Amino acid sequence: MTKKEFISNLKIDLFSKGVRISAEDKGRKGGAGPAGSKNIIFGNTVANVPTFAKFVADSPYSLDNNVLKKFNKKIIDVKIPNPQFYKLKTKDGIPYNKIALLHGEDCLATTVVQHCIYWDTPLRCKFCGIDLSKGSTLDIKKPEEIAEVAEAAKRLDNVKHVTLTIGALKEEDEIKILGNCASAIKNAAKIPVHVQFEPLKDLKRMENLYSKGVDTVGIHIESFDKKVLENIAPAKAKIGFDRYLKALEYAVNIFGENQVSSFIIIGLGESDESVIEGCKTLSGMGVYPFVVPINPIPGSYMEDAIPPSFERMKDIYESVASILKENLSWKKSKAGCVKCRACSALDVFE
Ligand code: SF4
Repeated sequence: MTKKEFISNLKIDLFSKGVRISAEDKGRKGGAGPAGSKNIIFGNTVANVPTFAKFVADSPYSLDNNVLKKFNKKIIDVKIPNPQFYKLKTKDGIPYNKIALLHGEDCLATTVVQHCIYWDTPLRCKFCGIDLSKGSTLDIKKPEEIAEVAEAAKRLDNVKHVTLTIGALKEEDEIKILGNCASAIKNAAKIPVHVQFEPLKDLKRMENLYSKGVDTVGIHIESFDKKVLENIAPAKAKIGFDRYLKALEYAVNIFGENQVSSFIIIGLGESDESVIEGCKTLSGMGVYPFVVPINPIPGSYMEDAIPPSFERMKDIYESVASILKENLSWKKSKAGCVKCRACSALDVFE
């Protein structure tokens, strides 16, 4: 096996099985995005690996003093980021790590508003944990607070880009908040910014984001399997594929090919065909299909889900990598999840 194959296989196997780790080192338990997991840097990649979910107890992998072991035998040295900016506070005494966190190796990420209008309704996405980390972070982060943290994270930890996500709100509010945060970050830290939002009814609002300095955007379909979407993410099913595709197309016209992405989650009950066909569609539009295995967030409706097997993910990543349009690559993305790549193994299969 080549070193490249070893690293690729290891990344998907870690996503699939998780890593056993001492309680105090497990990472954060709830929240949007990669909660219940820990960032591990190894080889030429970084992986956001499940540490909290129940299935992790059966994992052959364990982490001990920056040594990754399988069945108690060392397999590779890893790096665990130790961000210096976490030690700082704002002048009002708010710890920086309640405002934003290091994701992956060099990405600052935050959920700007820790609330979603669907949370207390039957339309809530079953995989989501956005309201669960309330209390451990600020519910609403101000643009100037995120900008202050971004400047420090760049200076102290070599952070190179920022990911901003937000729960679903009224469309005009969502875009205004994201735009204001992006422009504050650009002024203070001068690093690329990625924002994530639902397909807009008024697509022109994306121009506003662009004018505020946003570099890349994510509009997340999550699944191309209609039945699965209806069951797992009914609010998204209601929006419908057409509106997603129109919004993605519009976004590519503004932000450019490879600067627009969409999460595709594997392990929700979808068929492999729906994944491959969906990725073909996205790739053909110049949209990067950010294929991720489900990472069950403790406290979410899917906390007991089991991630897809190593074999399935390997087949899917190989197929998606082979259909990626030539000019689509994580290396060309300016900011966000595609550039961070901690939650997907597509980077090591490109
Ligand atoms: S890929 Fe996105 S969600 Fe995952 S760790 Fe990186 S920035 Fe966070």
